[in-house]
Order: sequence, then C-alpha cells, then structure tokens
Amino acid sequence: MSTATTTQTLPDASGHFGTFGGRFVPETLVAALDTLTEEYHRAKADPVFQEELDRLLSEFCGRETPLYFAERWTEMLGGARIYLKREDLLHTGAHKINNALGQIILAKRLGKKRIIAETGAGQHGVATATVAARFGMECVVYMGAIDMERQRLNVIRMRLLGAEVRGVEAGQKTLKEAVNEALRDWVTNVRTTHYILGSALGPHPYPMMVRDFHRIIGVEARKQILEREKRLPDLLVACVGGGSNAIGLFHPFLGDESVKMMGVEAGGHGIKLGEHAARFQGGKLGVLQGTKTWLLADDDGQIELTHSVSAGLDYAAVGPEHAWLQSEGRVDYTYATDDEALDAFSELSRTEGIIPALETSHALAYVKKAAPKMDRDQIIVVNLSGRGDKDVDQAARFLLPGL
Ligand SMILES: *Cc1c(COP(=O)(O)O)cnc(C)c1O
Repeated sequence: MSTATTTQTLPDASGHFGTFGGRFVPETLVAALDTLTEEYHRAKADPVFQEELDRLLSEFCGRETPLYFAERWTEMLGGARIYLKREDLLHTGAHKINNALGQIILAKRLGKKRIIAETGAGQHGVATATVAARFGMECVVYMGAIDMERQRLNVIRMRLLGAEVRGVEAGQKTLKEAVNEALRDWVTNVRTTHYILGSALGPHPYPMMVRDFHRIIGVEARKQILEREKRLPDLLVACVGGGSNAIGLFHPFLGDESVKMMGVEAGGHGIKLGEHAARFQGGKLGVLQGTKTWLLADDDGQIELTHSVSAGLDYAAVGPEHAWLQSEGRVDYTYATDDEALDAFSELSRTEGIIPALETSHALAYVKKAAPKMDRDQIIVVNLSGRGDKDVDQAARFLLPGL
C-alpha cells in the first residue's frame, strides 16, 4: 500500500496512527470508551443514523456550505486562484457544529440524558449548547475562568441556550484545565453522561470520530472544485488548533498525491517557549489528556504556557493524526504569528467583505505568502473555518486604535 492509502485507513483498532494516538485514561473510562467505539461503528453503518445526521446538517446547520472563489483577493495577490470553503456560514458560525451534532445523535442512541463539554474560546461550548437544546438534553460546559472573561459573549450565548457554564479556577484557568474538569465529571457520571469532546484530540475513539464528522468539509470541497474547475486543487490550507477543521478538509484528499496540504499553527509572539502554540516548532513527544502526540513541554515534561491571539488555537497539544501525517511527510505544517494573522484578518475583511475568525486568519496569513509564488492557473482551497463576529473586540483593539 502507498502512504496515501495507509493514511486513509488509520487509526488501527487500538486507536493508533503509527506511534501516535491511543488511549491513556483512568480505568473507569475504558468501558465507556469501548462502548462509544462500538456504537460509533454501528451508527456509521446504519442508514437511519446517517439519514438523521444528513437531514439536520442540511436543515438545521445549513450544509452544504459554498466553495467561494475569492476573486478580488486572488487578483490582489497575483498568483494562484483562491477558493474559500465557507464553514463560517454554518449555524453558530464555525465548523464545530458538524462534530457536536454527530456526537449528540450518538449520545441519544447510547441512551444518555446529560451532555458535558469543554470549551476555550466558547465556540465548541456554543455548538454543544445548541445541539443539546435541540435534543432536549441537560448540558454542562466547563470553561476556564479567564476564558469566561475574555469570551463573555459566548458565555451569554451558552446560558441563553439553557446550558450551565461552570468556571474552572485551577491552574492557568484556560482550556487545558477545562478539559481536566470535563474528564473528572465524566469519570463520576459516565453512566448517564456523554462527553462531547471538541477537537480531533483525546483518547480513542475521539480523534477518529471527530475527524469523520468533519470529513464532510473535504468531501463537499472535492466535489465542488471538480465541478467548478474540472480538476483537483494544488494546495489545501487550514489552521490547526487541535486539528479538526484541518483534518476534515484534508482527509478526503489524502489519496490524491498531486494535492499538497499545509496546516498552520499559532506562532503567537514568535517561536520562544511560552510565547506560541506551534507544537511542530520545538514541541516534544508526550501524552496529554488521553493521547500521545506532539506537545509543548519543558525538559521535565511539564506542560508549557502557550499564547495565541486566537483562543481556539491556544492549546499545548496537536491532534495525533496530524502528528502522524507530519511524520509521514504527507502534510506540511507551518505557523503564522499574531501580527500576520491580524494583517490577514484585515485584508480579507476589506477585500472580500468577509470577516474571518482569528483562528482562520492564521491559514489566510499563509495563503498571503504562498499564492503570489504560485502560477495563475494553480488552485488553493483554504478552509474558512469560522466567522469573526466573536473576535471583533479583540481585533478592534489592534486594528482600530483609539476606537
Ligand atoms: C475551534 C476553532 C478552530 C480550531 O480548532 P480545530 O479543531 O483545530 O479546527 C479553528 N477555527 C475556528 C473558527 C474555531 O472555532
């Protein structure tokens, strides 16, 4: 088998992508994760599950999302033709609801009545609160106390949707601590509760399952670009936090050897330990929150502080499938700094009339560098993972001083 074929068939039965991934959890969760894995495989093969998911993705979430030719931005950069996969147009404003919806239908099949989730910027919390309301389930979202201050609007949205938001005061009071609290809750309440994990991270089966629920992004983009351009793109670009929007776009193209792929991490203030969240730039192999992957840690293995202007990319570990794809050389990874992301944020807003999320703006920053070096008949597809409404206060502080 070629690398391309192998990469598309992973993980193996134990949840490994090569040496990455797996399941590092307390004993009490093993049975729940086994049940979840079995039910997920059953659901995947069940037309009734697929029909409900497809119908709600379409009628509740607004799929399929357009593949939009960014004509003015293409002209301005003077190189490759740039297409935007418009996940920003989905219900709740980002790709995250693809996964939240898939998992809650699964939770219903498992007979669960209560949903928990972690959230950093609040986007996954909002997506989870939304589907919990839609399915009439109790919902608790764990969020770091500092993130609750930074993302007040999303806290309000979750509460309006009927979810309970529990502030986490431990440690740095951000996403990592929120995940710890969610895992602790799950250990205690595992019989009644499903944990909707928000990215392609955590113990098996989450990285596989979350990826599969986001594959629709790449499946649609592949069909749309073939209709529009009669050929495959030369380059795919996506930002990488945990890596769910990126793997969703990339995965259906992994077998297409002519298609290059670039994942863009958060370079923060630059690549100095504690100042960024680019795990492939000086990260170490280790285990965090259930999975083995690249992460940012000091020489004693203590998880480092991370920084990014975008809360959604600000996490110390990367999804294990990305670690595998990087080690195989199938996907390349780079980073964009806060300043580069803000610059791309501004440029897309003014050139195309689309305000992107700050997370997404990291991918756009790479497109700004890559497109001018490519030929005019080449094609880039970039995942516009979310809209920037949640980020306007923060962006204004940098881009509209004196406002
Ligand atoms: C959460 C988020 C991300 C980062 O998460 P991934 O799992 O890496 O996709 C990127 N973009 C937006 C808009 C987000 O809300």
